[in-house]
Amino acid sequence: MSNTIFDKILAGDIPVDSVFEDEDVLAFNDVNPKAPVHVLVIPKKRASRFSELSGRPIEEIGRFFAAVSRIAALLDLDENGYRVVINNGPDGGQEVEYLHAHILGGRRLTWPPG
Ligand code: 5GP
Repeated sequence: MSNTIFDKILAGDIPVDSVFEDEDVLAFNDVNPKAPVHVLVIPKKRASRFSELSGRPIEEIGRFFAAVSRIAALLDLDENGYRVVINNGPDGGQEVEYLHAHILGGRRLTWPPG
């Protein structure tokens, strides 16, 4: 499926509260935040799931994760820390079939997740 809500956001058809954008990624605030800071980072080169990255060039994968790390720093989360979550597929709790990393921070998060 390639017409998810995140495809529409990337196409500019649905407005978001964006926090960062470059040639590789778009980052925006989650509409239903689970922490004081809850930002979603999506790659502009489409993947439905994290599991698809196994077939992608290392450079592309590396640029995505470097962007996530840079965005967390921009959000001023480096000192206190944060969590990066990628839900993959039904058992992973993925609701939107467009690869996205959650950056969660601004409070002490519990472990393990439910
Ligand atoms: P998943 O469960 O797929 O890992 O996470 C999907 C996330 O997308 C959820 O945290 C949900 O709140 C967020 N989300 C779903 N629809 C929208 C939307 O239209 N705008 C924004 N900003 N976030 C969304």
